[in-house]
Amino acid sequence: MFYITTTTGVRLLDPTESAGIDLGNNPLEMTIFNVGGGEAILLRQGMDGFMVDGGAYWGTGFFKRNAALGEKLANFLVDRKIKLLGMVASHPHLDHLNAISSMWEIGGDEIIGKGLELSGRRGTETASKLIIFESTKDRGTYLNETLGRAIKKNKNIQSIILKVKDVIDIRWGGLLTGQLFKDNEVDSRPKYESIFMSLTFSNSCFLFTGDSYKSYERKLVNRDLLSETHVLKITHHGSSSGTGSLFLDAVRPHIAVASTSDHATHRLEEDVKERIRSEMPDALILDTSTANGDLVIRTDGKIRTVGNNNGVVYDVIVENYRFRNSSQ
Ligand SMILES: [Zn+2]
Repeated sequence: MFYITTTTGVRLLDPTESAGIDLGNNPLEMTIFNVGGGEAILLRQGMDGFMVDGGAYWGTGFFKRNAALGEKLANFLVDRKIKLLGMVASHPHLDHLNAISSMWEIGGDEIIGKGLELSGRRGTETASKLIIFESTKDRGTYLNETLGRAIKKNKNIQSIILKVKDVIDIRWGGLLTGQLFKDNEVDSRPKYESIFMSLTFSNSCFLFTGDSYKSYERKLVNRDLLSETHVLKITHHGSSSGTGSLFLDAVRPHIAVASTSDHATHRLEEDVKERIRSEMPDALILDTSTANGDLVIRTDGKIRTVGNNNGVVYDVIVENYRFRNSSQ
């Protein structure tokens, strides 16, 4: 389904309008996998990939690795010959982290790419390894320790731990630029605060928010780090604890998407949808449970005029790669 961004949100294009739209051979594609209770997101352009988190509960107990999901993610990448240039581990909670170490162990060098351009506190460099951006140096939890061991074991992977108030710029493939940042001054559980990533691909823009809370969002707004975005990854699986009005006023999302759970918690809450709609009445609001599949959003980032609208076109489709536990 093709959508075009408008001043107040997005508009669904009818088949006659969208008939001539071709996103070309090399669009940016964002896949938010329907993992059944967690978060795993893949960004790719051609064979170049970048992941944001990789985990799911699946009743494995609190501090357990999710090797089954790790294997599925690794196979997905290997089958499509996608090599990751980088990854964000937004915060060390198992539903975002517990498949990552298995994914590296199973995928190995076949899923490892390199060449991300970085600039930040240490100057500008082109990475000679795959970079994992982590939110904490704390290796005290089992999962973080496991991830740390997996990173250490692989000489082609390098970890960069974001410090408070760090801002790191990344770039790959010419048109794709991003900015990663975090701030943990306001929360009572600082080591669990999330890395944010904004990503720009030509004229399209995306924002990834981990599991942030409203207090943290406000901090980032006050530091002037957030701006209008087309595609917002809704924080904390759609929970009421995030996606505050002040944040939405800064971000004004046209398309908002949440990775929700099969269970009673971590659902896209009504008050979150209401807040988004009160800021952007025509926003397209999506979640993986309602879609009952993986949400794939594609764009070439070009501005087009379609009818009376001028904006960037997004193709939103539901796929089903069966990334949930096979017993569910
Ligand atoms: Zn989560």
